[in-house]
Amino acid sequence: MEKKEQKSEFLLNTENGWNRIDEKELPSLEAYAKEYISFLSKAKTERLAHDFAVEKAKANGYVSISEKDKLQPGDKVFVSHSGRTVFFILIGKKDITEGMNLLGGHIDCPRIDLKPNPLYEDSELAFFDTHYYGGIRKYQWVALPLAVHGHVVKQDGSVVDFSVGENDDEPVFSITDLLPHLAQKQAEKTIAEAVTGENLNLLIGTIPVKSSEAKLKVKEKILQILNERYGMKEEDFNSADIQMVPAGKAREMGFDRSMILGYGQDDRICSFAAFKALMDMNEIPEYTAGVLLCDKEEVGSYGATGMQSFFFENAVAEVLHRMDKTSLVDLNRTLSKSKMLSADVNSLHDPNFPEVSSPNNNMPQMNRGTIIQKYTGARGKSGASEASPEFVAEVRNIFNSNGVLWQTGELGKVDLGGSGTIAYYMARYGMDVIDCGPGLFSMHAPFEVSSKLDAYMTWKGFKAFLNYKR
Ligand code: MN
Ligand code: MN
Repeated sequence: MEKKEQKSEFLLNTENGWNRIDEKELPSLEAYAKEYISFLSKAKTERLAHDFAVEKAKANGYVSISEKDKLQPGDKVFVSHSGRTVFFILIGKKDITEGMNLLGGHIDCPRIDLKPNPLYEDSELAFFDTHYYGGIRKYQWVALPLAVHGHVVKQDGSVVDFSVGENDDEPVFSITDLLPHLAQKQAEKTIAEAVTGENLNLLIGTIPVKSSEAKLKVKEKILQILNERYGMKEEDFNSADIQMVPAGKAREMGFDRSMILGYGQDDRICSFAAFKALMDMNEIPEYTAGVLLCDKEEVGSYGATGMQSFFFENAVAEVLHRMDKTSLVDLNRTLSKSKMLSADVNSLHDPNFPEVSSPNNNMPQMNRGTIIQKYTGARGKSGASEASPEFVAEVRNIFNSNGVLWQTGELGKVDLGGSGTIAYYMARYGMDVIDCGPGLFSMHAPFEVSSKLDAYMTWKGFKAFLNYKR
């Protein structure tokens, strides 16, 4: 059908992606969404996301870099750190010092961690005391089913990994909230104060042990269960990463099934797209292709597995070493000539909260495709890594030439919002880097909302970028 409305040939195309996408692509979009939902349902922690990716990569011919003495075009290797951060690389035809095509997403997500001594009893109820991780809005995390994922290292170095609450036949945990009848005082507080960090205590058990000398009998019962199941003693909590995340699977959302509701889409929606884009590469690319799935982005990229560390640089040096390129100049050239999409999510215009949206087509909108964010930062672009117009033009060209629907966007109104990603840590090497990824509703909430179309376009864009011949 001919469109009645005469569109200007000069105007920016902001038409809904569902009207623009080729019908023939819809089965591929649905297949992608299904695979992503399944990943999101399984990879509930950075460790699980890391292990999922490493296992899949191995099946696709990737090996740990330590197993290779020499690298040549077509070789597939990965460098992993602590089971939480990993860099996958497919060696291209061109000399690596011409630069790499890179995608970098993060696999850590806002959540609730247990304190080193989490287990306590109060009023004959057993609780876990917690310290939240990342920018959560605390009031959103109460009165919800939560699952626990534990990585416990015993004194002898042996590891116990466990998970409770993800399967239908397993129990879940919850943080209780006040009933409205007794919440008058709480209701007068601001949202930020109504539920505090120290209020986030998980109710985990209520049955006391019988005939025991123990004073805290409900706590004793929990210790007994943990010892039976995992061989744990209370001190083992001290050397453990134990995380609480919303229980259950990601789901399709909406009568039209156009959206995805699930925990951890910031930033596993981009991490999955980036990883799959690399796994889809069946031929040796012109430029070496690399995908970074990193940890600790949500807390500022600190620590050995965060991108403020030398992990990435060291990993690239290991690659170069296996190509007999051992000078610092080789490393500097490889890094500075690389191009990267910092694969991270953005916000969306939410008609429930129009007052925070950047006006005049500067707020990303659901279903208009993946989002290119020229700069991040806040208040006068402070802390921003701003991409050059030359690089933005290149990315536009790549996306437009490959049928990738995209839009630009800012994270909210000027002087209101702002954010940072791993982009500026990568920009330090002098490489071209820009933030790119789909938008979400309810970002950092226990369940975040994405659009299937935007997720699919992100993957499509990432594939085109990895194959970019410059
Ligand atoms: Mn993010
Ligand atoms: Mn985030």
